[in-house]
Amino acid sequence: MLEDLKWFSVLIPFVWLSCNNKPTDERIPEVTEAFKQLDLPQVNADSAFEFVRKQVDFGPRVPGTAAHAACASWIEGKMQSYQLETMIQHGMVTTYDGKQFDLKNIISTYRPELKRRILLCAHWDTRPFADRDDDNSDKTFDGANDGASGVAVLIEVARLIGQTKPEIGVDFIFFDLEDYGDAQGQTENSWCLGAQYWAKNKHVAGYNPIYGILLDMVGGHNPVFPKEGTSMKYASGIVNKVWSLARNLGYTMFINNISPETTDDHLYINTIAGIPCIDIVHYNLTKMDYMDCHHRHCDDLTNIDPLTLKIAGHVLMEVIHQEAVKG
Ligand SMILES: [Zn+2]
Repeated sequence: MLEDLKWFSVLIPFVWLSCNNKPTDERIPEVTEAFKQLDLPQVNADSAFEFVRKQVDFGPRVPGTAAHAACASWIEGKMQSYQLETMIQHGMVTTYDGKQFDLKNIISTYRPELKRRILLCAHWDTRPFADRDDDNSDKTFDGANDGASGVAVLIEVARLIGQTKPEIGVDFIFFDLEDYGDAQGQTENSWCLGAQYWAKNKHVAGYNPIYGILLDMVGGHNPVFPKEGTSMKYASGIVNKVWSLARNLGYTMFINNISPETTDDHLYINTIAGIPCIDIVHYNLTKMDYMDCHHRHCDDLTNIDPLTLKIAGHVLMEVIHQEAVKG
């Protein structure tokens, strides 16, 4: 993914101001009695971590490789094992450097008959180059946080809703080819090819969830999740609702400051599909950068904190069940 550098000039003074002001009077979502009485099973940090390890064990999930194909089959099988209808959406796409791939978006559906639905998504491919490293920058990396963490949290949530059985539809989309973009910014729309394909074609006619939540880099140490700029531009109400809920749970790493606009899968879900979608993504406002190992070889299993995976999963479970209670 890429951040929009145009934001830098306007963002810095804004961040400074934000740091010096108390959070404003955000509307805290009302917690109903029925919701309070829910006794949700715990998100299991070890289970989520094992889902990261499994993906990393395949090797980098670079499009066109055996590891990529094997991981797709594993994700599909895992979701089917939780009794979720699962399909693979194929589509031919061309990358900025002229390579053609048959992309695989993996899509699972919980309670397809329900009209009221939430979309949860993450990308499952690995960037082919660690191009932010000085050494071996033409070689790929494990993508433990960048890619595998979001997938792992979604699989853990799929496992849990099989037990909690919320009365709301949930769709899981694992997008392919998010991370094969042009870091030099010379090519328009070179990132998020899987999400762009899905946003144009969908997987079912008339698909209309109430909103979507994208996870990216949700497994790092010392996470910070500012309100992400693109999400605030298109879906600020959803951001504020989810951040308030997370902070009510005690997860203060969901900070109220706003980070630069990010080009991630949710951009195209908002702009092409017209579905409000937010991004929960680790971003360090002091360094004005994503997590430290972004597109570097150090994005391996040691870069993962199971507790961060658990926090992301817990927030999603609470969102799902709060929406189910409302419906
Ligand atoms: Zn990336």
